Amino acid sequence: MNMILLGPPGAGKGTQAFFLVESYAIPQISTGDMLRAAVQAASPMGVKAKACMDAGELVSDDVVIGIVRERLQQADCDNGFILDGFPRTLPQADALQDVLKDLGKELEAVVSLRVDTDALVERLAGRRSCPQCGKGFHLKFDPPREDGTCSACGGELVQRDDDKEETIRKRMEVYHRQTAPLEDYYSQRGVLIAVDGMAEIQAVRAEIKAALQAG
Ligand code: ADP
Ligand code: ADP
Ligand code: ZN
Repeated sequence: MNMILLGPPGAGKGTQAFFLVESYAIPQISTGDMLRAAVQAASPMGVKAKACMDAGELVSDDVVIGIVRERLQQADCDNGFILDGFPRTLPQADALQDVLKDLGKELEAVVSLRVDTDALVERLAGRRSCPQCGKGFHLKFDPPREDGTCSACGGELVQRDDDKEETIRKRMEVYHRQTAPLEDYYSQRGVLIAVDGMAEIQAVRAEIKAALQAG
């Protein structure tokens, strides 16, 4: 399954990717996670990306396209992949088409998670993430078994720097301006699957599963 998870910050892309990785045994390719790893490693790319990420703005198309192009060539993508948080702009979407064509792959599904802005803000404000394994939790909607500790790997949960109120608003605005147009882009290409992301985590999971099996 070659697919994209599309949706605004906090829509549940990472949460659902976790389930899809298990069901399909294919990797999650999260540009956000890869950029945070670069920031952590203080690589030249990471140092440049950090300023944009902290401001809630997008990292340049060239940088993320380069990362994804390289990642999709790795052997674990042979049976499929789940792009999470990429593409986020029309130039990224066009670049992805070129990369896939070069690699002889075809995009099969774009699952778009639709969630109201108020719910997104609440989700992001209560999100806690595991820097070790990338799994996300929510203080109210998906709490870890033990406070502050990742239930999957035992890592210490943190609040992301960009999950603070002002940055959240900025990210929403960036989403509406730059990423929302991708819904039409993929709808025109006949691969868009719109899913109600307002439902509970397990209900969203079931809806995605059913939609992918039907497709
Ligand atoms: P994204 O990757 O799209 O930014 P996440 O998967 O990290 O979103 O989810 C954002 C936050 O909302 C996390 O704290 C997660 O636990 C929580 N969450 C995800 N899906 C749901 C849902 N269907 N209902 C309530 N909370 C959710
Ligand atoms: P969220 O889970 O809230 O949707 P991500 O973890 O996907 O957020 O992304 C965090 C930040 O990393 C973004 O605000 C942006 O600065 C940067 N980023 C991630 N993916 C991309 C991308 N495809 N293009 C540009 N910037 C990106
Ligand atoms: Zn963990």
